[in-house]
Amino acid sequence: MKPEALLHPTPAGLYCPIGRFHVDPVRPVERALITHGHSDHARAGHGSVLATRQTLDIMALRYGDDYTLQEQTASFGERIDVNGVTVHFHPAGHVLGSAQIAIEKNGLRIVVSGDYKRGIDPTCAPFEPIPCDVFITEATFGLPVFHHPDPKAETRKLLASLKQFPERTHLVGAYSLGKAQRVIRLIRDCGYDKPIFIHGALAKLCDYYVSQGVELGDLRPATLEKKDPSAFHGAIVVGPPSAFQERWARRFNEPLISFASGWMMVRQRAKQGGVELPLVISDHCDWPELLDTIQEIKPQEVWVTHGREEALVRWCELQGIPARPLHLVGYEDEGD
Ligand SMILES: [Zn+2]
Repeated sequence: MKPEALLHPTPAGLYCPIGRFHVDPVRPVERALITHGHSDHARAGHGSVLATRQTLDIMALRYGDDYTLQEQTASFGERIDVNGVTVHFHPAGHVLGSAQIAIEKNGLRIVVSGDYKRGIDPTCAPFEPIPCDVFITEATFGLPVFHHPDPKAETRKLLASLKQFPERTHLVGAYSLGKAQRVIRLIRDCGYDKPIFIHGALAKLCDYYVSQGVELGDLRPATLEKKDPSAFHGAIVVGPPSAFQERWARRFNEPLISFASGWMMVRQRAKQGGVELPLVISDHCDWPELLDTIQEIKPQEVWVTHGREEALVRWCELQGIPARPLHLVGYEDEGD
């Protein structure tokens, strides 16, 4: 069987015609297999959703309990039959609950890795390399210029800034699923044990991470009703980047704007966003991690999706690995 007969791109996303299911569909479908809870991969309105328990929980938290008609839980490693196609989920190391999905039929195995990273992250299970014939990889940071630094060293920049500017409120922008909890956890792992204040948009997901055993320490709401503006002097406040455009952010004392994202490697992006303290902390592979992963898995073929597809396709070809870009649309990761 040709791999394309088992899985191929359609406008709604990757589709398996034999199993009659889509993977991370960008529009409502009958049956969806979902890699992780970021909004571009996990959307509401599918007939049924098969995903890890944590991804299902995260979807219900974000969209409400009626986000789908039917949920089915996939445990890591469990082999599940979907209309004669075997699927199994394995950790992707991207955010809590994130999974790669292996799809098998007649001895052919395709692995959809979703979004993934290889660096240490205590807020989710680490990426597991799965041998396969076709490896589908993201390429969000698929250019040789992208090398992500040590996330702890980046976090220490924030703590050093707090020492240097003890009066200023340090506002840290971080996407609400995954990045926010990882940044809070990194701040704790760097020895900071004072309360961390969080924007209301992060509360439910932070509570959920804690319920799943991810320690985040003393978190308090960054409520603005506080009469004493000095309450947030020298404090760390974590919020979604969108909140920094709101009046909410301007009420803090001499706010110092920081932003945790892989894109902070690009100086221009930090400048445009008015970010004074860029922190290069990413939940995606950088260029060396992408190459190491492909070399480790040694697939027969690589399919590349969302991001800098061409550079990675070219690199694969130079290694003698057939590769193709998928040109899927609708994936603008919220958790970079
Ligand atoms: Zn993602």
